[in-house]
Amino acid sequence: MTKKISLPMQILIALVAGIAVGFIALAAGVPDLTTNYLKPFGTIFVNLLKFIVVPVVLLSMIEGILSMDDMKKVGSVGWKTVAYFLCTTAIACVIGLVLANVFNGAGLFPTLVLEEGQEWTKATSANFMDTLVGMFPSNMWESFHTANMLQVIVIALMLGGSIMAAGEKGKVAREVVGSFNEVINKLMEFIISLSPIGVFTMMAWVVATQGPAILGSLALVLLCAYIAYIIHAVFVYSLSAKVFAGMSPIAFFKGAFAAMMFAFTSTSSAATLPVSKECSDNMGADKDISAFVLPLGATINMDGTAIYQCVATIFLASCAGLQLGLGEMITIVVTATLASIGTAGVSGAGMIMLAMVLTAMGIDVNMIMIIYGVDRLFDMGRTCLNVTGDIACSLCVTKWEEKKAAKTK
Ligand code: ASP
Repeated sequence: MTKKISLPMQILIALVAGIAVGFIALAAGVPDLTTNYLKPFGTIFVNLLKFIVVPVVLLSMIEGILSMDDMKKVGSVGWKTVAYFLCTTAIACVIGLVLANVFNGAGLFPTLVLEEGQEWTKATSANFMDTLVGMFPSNMWESFHTANMLQVIVIALMLGGSIMAAGEKGKVAREVVGSFNEVINKLMEFIISLSPIGVFTMMAWVVATQGPAILGSLALVLLCAYIAYIIHAVFVYSLSAKVFAGMSPIAFFKGAFAAMMFAFTSTSSAATLPVSKECSDNMGADKDISAFVLPLGATINMDGTAIYQCVATIFLASCAGLQLGLGEMITIVVTATLASIGTAGVSGAGMIMLAMVLTAMGIDVNMIMIIYGVDRLFDMGRTCLNVTGDIACSLCVTKWEEKKAAKTK
């Protein structure tokens, strides 16, 4: 019986094979072959991403709002958890943006011309007020049709809130959303399972058309993301565990190590849940609190994903020859925070939501092809960070609740 090669292994093989084929095409002086015969498969893959992004954002955001309903039942634990998640995610975006701008400012991110004389469609920069006004839809179908992601988010927030407000009468709508969300998640899993094809074709094409230099640029953008991941883990998570839960950074990372490693290798926060639960409980988190915080965190708290989306957006904007101003940076913080909330805790999901951030910024989604080949390498670090954040939160909330209980005694 032949043993099936695991998906991570398939992706690794596809990455190496793609780079090799790209080099061969370059050395043989036929990069056009990759443009004509391999890039189209990458385009199919990116089209599938574009196709899925609107339903994923719409349904996962509505589900997210509806899960707030349960939060009312858990009272202060719920609000404290969400406050911790939101604050840390916003900080993550700022760290990611600052670092990416430092790299970009130092000229480490390239500007690419991908075909003779042809540049990527440049984004039309909008200022913050225009973006704000443009967030509110005047026609729901048009928002879906044009994949206007900020409007889709606003629609999701309004519909989710209204389903909640309708109470008992909104029950059917709630079930319909839940059921469709499951279906779309299955479809997303299927698209993600095609990753090796995407990785191989896009990597071969990018290397053949850009030459070896592109590998250096990809290594730099990876380095940028990993520095941001580490800064966030050390300064935000271990510091919050120290300040709020009185745990030393060494004890924190030692306690969380098993979950971090599992997340790093599995690239799925959801799959890491049992390990992160065990780590949190061993580190002194209240069992009921971690039972609430960790699954919610694996669904909506994705700081690693937020950092990745910020760094990747700045990198791809630079590739497109686009300079972003302060207004656009604020828009990136808002969209990346929301995108990370909407990202499912499964392998590769953050990249699908990157399509949303790029669309919101008016950057050509096809540019994902440049970075797609190495997405798994980003994903390992971002999932590791996502899970670490959930554990830190469960420890802090446990301490806050203990203090509250001691006061009311
Ligand atoms: N793989 C990540 C996670 O499960 C999500 C992502 O792709 O960013 O946490």
